[in-house]
Amino acid sequence: MNSSWILKFGNEVLDLVYPPGLYCISCGKITDDSRTYRLCNDCMQGMNWITDRRCAKCGRPLSQNDPGEMCFRCSVREASESPQSFDKGHACAGYGAVEQAVIFALKYGSRPDIGDTLGEVLYDRMASEYGAGGLARMYDIVMPVPTHREKKAKRGYNHADLMAKGFSKRAGLRYDPDAIIRLRATVPMKGLGPEERMANIHGAFDIRARKLPLIEGSRILLIDDIFTTGATIDEISRILKDAGASRVDFLAFAAAGDMVN
Ligand SMILES: [Zn+2]
Ligand SMILES: [Zn+2]
Repeated sequence: MNSSWILKFGNEVLDLVYPPGLYCISCGKITDDSRTYRLCNDCMQGMNWITDRRCAKCGRPLSQNDPGEMCFRCSVREASESPQSFDKGHACAGYGAVEQAVIFALKYGSRPDIGDTLGEVLYDRMASEYGAGGLARMYDIVMPVPTHREKKAKRGYNHADLMAKGFSKRAGLRYDPDAIIRLRATVPMKGLGPEERMANIHGAFDIRARKLPLIEGSRILLIDDIFTTGATIDEISRILKDAGASRVDFLAFAAAGDMVN
């Protein structure tokens, strides 16, 4: 009997006692299913939706005092000899307390149902900017950032996979959950310098050989829960471009502000 089966069975029993639809996806307070994104009033008001200035390259929120078009990280990298491999990034919200609680509940709180709700948030974000029809024409395939298989086995799911599935079914886009493989777990990036980050992530991902024809010439949208240093997204974009992808964008639920480790 493996642990993911126990987790799944345990969740089914819990769902009967505490139907997940009734609980705010951030604070866990009882609410009702009619709420937008299943957030209670307080959490909805506490969301840091990105409606204002954002980085033209990675989409993270820019402060009012920041005069540039791009965040500090992107302006340094784009002017360097090794510009970032992705084309453009999008995010729904800044990374504050409410967003953090939603991500924690999805990743560590045995709440896979939150993945589909975040898929809806991601879809609304993109459809509001490009229109539903425009969005459907922008990409050939949607892919989640993969989790290491040991973590996936422990949780019973890959959270980014559930988000990507929820997003692509609403967008009418093709989705592929296993073209990218995570070869090894990486240590958290927080506190690492730029070179240590690169060493930490380099070679951590690969592409499944049988998926190479799918990637060649394709416009790909990567999905993840949070965008912080950008090292993971950049490394995956690099291997996808090396495999012949014509465009790689990403879409995250939350993005940390500028100059955050
Ligand atoms: Zn709440
Ligand atoms: Zn940026």
